Amino acid sequence: MKEIVILGAGYAGLKALRRLQANKGDFHITLVDRNKYHYEATDLHEVAAGTQPKGKITFPIADVVKASTTFEQAEVKLIDRTKQKVQLTNGKSLAYDYLIVSLGFRSESFGIAGVAENALEMVDVVSAENVYQHIMQQMKDYTKTKNQDDLKIVVCGAGFTGIELLGALEDNRKRFAAAAGVEPQKLEFYCVEAVTRLLPMFDEKLADYGISTLKKWGIKFLTGKPIKEIKPNTVIYQENKETGETKELTARTIIWTTGVSGSKVMEASGFSQRRGRVMVSADLTDPDFSNVYIIGDVSAVMNTENNRPYPTTAQIALSMGEHAARNILAQINRAATTPFTFKSLGSVASIGNTHAFGLVGKSAVKGYPASFVKKMIMDKSLLETGGVKEMLAKGRFDLYH
Ligand code: NAD
Repeated sequence: MKEIVILGAGYAGLKALRRLQANKGDFHITLVDRNKYHYEATDLHEVAAGTQPKGKITFPIADVVKASTTFEQAEVKLIDRTKQKVQLTNGKSLAYDYLIVSLGFRSESFGIAGVAENALEMVDVVSAENVYQHIMQQMKDYTKTKNQDDLKIVVCGAGFTGIELLGALEDNRKRFAAAAGVEPQKLEFYCVEAVTRLLPMFDEKLADYGISTLKKWGIKFLTGKPIKEIKPNTVIYQENKETGETKELTARTIIWTTGVSGSKVMEASGFSQRRGRVMVSADLTDPDFSNVYIIGDVSAVMNTENNRPYPTTAQIALSMGEHAARNILAQINRAATTPFTFKSLGSVASIGNTHAFGLVGKSAVKGYPASFVKKMIMDKSLLETGGVKEMLAKGRFDLYH
């Protein structure tokens, strides 16, 4: 009997699991994850801002693991591709015939000093909840200190994550203000961003819609201001490229969302990687080991249309999960693997609960209709990772509940 080990129960890992479990064959699956729950990583900003409790964006992994699969709640330490073994931090070692590496992302600081010590990250359920608790604590502190910095929140980076977080923070402005005992407009939300042309995946008009909506709601954008250092309660950014002059923005809540890289395990295990991502072969395997599939945020797949790797998204991770599972089934049946192809259905960023903007296929969508589309995307993702049960329980449309 062949042993298939899947590392990570995110979008890519769970999708692969579900596809493999739907097939009967002479194989056994072991799924490894450090948590006993799956979380929808695209919804973390909602937990960070307090829009949703963590239970709404998580479900027990046990709900999707069939009796024939073994679930091992443990942290992956090292992958030894030559010996075909995975070492776990609990001392156990797992042998495999086929391996799916879907270990996900971590926050990327680009070596900027003080990020780890002085900024909050939002990479998993625990860190997202920590952001919310931190904000509420500053609001409470304000009632005693009357220090305006308690009422300031700085989001570093205006990528999709930063923009979605800012929208969710705006949705909760009144709640934060009530905790601080101030008028909502007394709270100050900032976004500091290195480049001036934001959200380059969208045309300028569509990107402007999202940014100007946030500005209208009261977010202050500092664009073309690369962050150089984070000191305690202080963001130091470059004000002038020519002179190198820097300026400081003080705030007691500083959230780091300037991009992501793949799991540290990739580098530690000697994969040929850049920022934790491995450029995979056309069939999603490791170029050096045809029994090792690398999918999701630890994987880089070339888009032959523009010769650049596809951006890491939940959508492509789900698609890779499906494809890797099919290819393993082919290998077990001594058939040839097939190359991965991907056609993006578009991408939509939420700005709060009732607004969104983005592309569906090639068409621009914005405003309330776009937020409806966004909720459909969220529910489709739940359906693919958790199945009908999870979508009905955690989906975004009231008609289910
Ligand atoms: P990102 O790389 O897309 O954006 C990071 C932003 O931070 C960029 O605008 C960059 O210019 C800025 N930045 C980098 N260094 C900086 C510095 N020193 N100072 C100031 N600004 C700096 O990262 P992300 O937003 O975390 O997204 C990661 C991936 O996940 C992307 O591929 C994204 O498309 C995807 N994502 C998709 C969705 C969605 O589909 N709704 C939501 C979230 C994330």
